[in-house]
Amino acid sequence: MSSELAGVGIVSGSSPSIAIGRAHLLAPSELETRHYSIERKDVLHEVARLNNAFSLVRAEIDELATHVAPDAPGEVRAFLDLHRMILDDPLLCDEPRDLVRNRLINAEWALTIQLEQVCKQFEAIDDEYFRSRTQDVRQVVERVMKALVSGRNSTMALPPKPADGERLILIARDLAPTDMLHLKERAEVDVAGFVTELGGRNSHTAIMARSLGLPAVLGVSNARESVAEGDLVVLDAETGRLRIRPEPTDLTLYRQRLRAQVESRIALRKLKGRLPRTKDGIAVDLLANIELPEDARDALDAGADGIGLFRTEFLFMNRDQLPDEDEQYEAYAKVARAMKGKPVVIRTLDVGADKVLTDKARRGLGIAAGAPTIESNPALGLRAIRYCLAYPDLFLTQLRAILRASSVGTVRILVPMLAHVHEVEQTLSFVARAREQLKERKVKYDARVPVGGMIEVPAAALSLPAFVRRLKFLSLGTNDLIQYTLAIDRADSSVAHLYEHLHPAVLHLIARTIRIGAKARTPVAVCGEMAGEIDLTELLLGMGLRQFSMHPSQVLSVKERLFTLSTKTAAKLASRVLRADDPVEIRKMIERAVTRPAS
Ligand code: PEP
Ligand code: MG
Repeated sequence: MSSELAGVGIVSGSSPSIAIGRAHLLAPSELETRHYSIERKDVLHEVARLNNAFSLVRAEIDELATHVAPDAPGEVRAFLDLHRMILDDPLLCDEPRDLVRNRLINAEWALTIQLEQVCKQFEAIDDEYFRSRTQDVRQVVERVMKALVSGRNSTMALPPKPADGERLILIARDLAPTDMLHLKERAEVDVAGFVTELGGRNSHTAIMARSLGLPAVLGVSNARESVAEGDLVVLDAETGRLRIRPEPTDLTLYRQRLRAQVESRIALRKLKGRLPRTKDGIAVDLLANIELPEDARDALDAGADGIGLFRTEFLFMNRDQLPDEDEQYEAYAKVARAMKGKPVVIRTLDVGADKVLTDKARRGLGIAAGAPTIESNPALGLRAIRYCLAYPDLFLTQLRAILRASSVGTVRILVPMLAHVHEVEQTLSFVARAREQLKERKVKYDARVPVGGMIEVPAAALSLPAFVRRLKFLSLGTNDLIQYTLAIDRADSSVAHLYEHLHPAVLHLIARTIRIGAKARTPVAVCGEMAGEIDLTELLLGMGLRQFSMHPSQVLSVKERLFTLSTKTAAKLASRVLRADDPVEIRKMIERAVTRPAS
């Protein structure tokens, strides 16, 4: 009988989100090992077994490294380096030998004791990054353990070759990056995707899945209990669902969706190298929104003209120790370097409202314990620029890190949620102070890094000239502009039906911002969700928008739409829409324009 399980879907920008194949279950990762005492005369033998196991795994990782394609994503090599480093750590390779000698126990037992010891130390470190590395330590030790038990290297057995034309979907408790690489390198095994019981959106498994271009569903508890070897399974990474033994009618639908995804991706990929232009030859910038440094690859892969919005708050969330200047610099510089001179707009911290810091991190900023995490109106509370201005050290640290990254790429600073001109002025003086501090430290940065502002509060959109005079560029955050114009909490599902992006008030504020920006020769982008909706491309273009910033997966579709549009027809649509006062009527106008046959 057909059944379904849910987890976290990981889609890689360039690959289809659906995978259909035969399940191959990978053996549980924990090994049953025997623990026993030894006699002193056996110490040398056990130590030799340990040495041999470590050598086998070292050789195995080195061998894998030689297979990494020169154009493979940087993470692939980074994982191998990390695992090699863990393997060479004296805590792991020397200590077990001492345990064998001193406690007279077998090699497996010594390794298990030491593994738990090291993991305990890692877990006690007050740093999310180090804590999450315990998974890597366990994966490395597991390989050594396998080599110890079998006396051979720990390379996982290759799955059976499925029937002609069929692909495999791996189902595992956990999948080490090295194992994924091992499978990916073997041409005879056609892996379509994988499912794991552990791991989340930002786990190493997820990062590897994205860089290898394999759809995945992670964190599916009981996956291995619910699926039998050889079962036909469908994985939908967009919805995070795993369908087991689908009914024939569902399978046909999934096959059709997969075929359509493959075809449209092939067609869209062909557009990657083409400059985004309208049919009448007007150039437009298509930029990408990213949340983590690793996402820059998706942006490049989609042929984006730069990063239009780097939401830096994701570096600060879910951790007790906030990132210091160096850690932030590394993250920003990584993106700036990856984009090779293309602009990278880094938004200063937008926490508050639904993006909260942990209690411990807040205490680190001096916020009293017990202070409410969510105020009664969090979206109207201490958020974004208000937060940064309230915590000068936090703000200055970030500004210095961003400025430093400007020495390795084309960096711009974007300030969220401005409502008052004095907030712009205060921000500019903070930027000046951060520059001074770097100068005193003789640290390199580009002195011309422009500072721009997000227009996402109606007050700013309605007093725009004062903002334009002080800022070098503007970016319309339509997600918040809708929320604040219509007084709809964007996180409250009970009022979600009133969140209407086609409300005339919202459209007038957008059009006005684009018009005043153009008049003052201040570049204006849209970086809210509206920029990536292909049904709205013509309307925004008609309002005069020339910079669209969106999720990387939307860039090529918007480009495709752009090629079919002319700015003159678009301007007529925009002026008709701006004369209308009913969102239903506006929607119909847009639908008619979308379905209008190309002239
Ligand atoms: C927006 O408000 O439109 C925006 C891009 O910012 P965020 O969604 O991160 O608030
Ligand atoms: Mg916003």
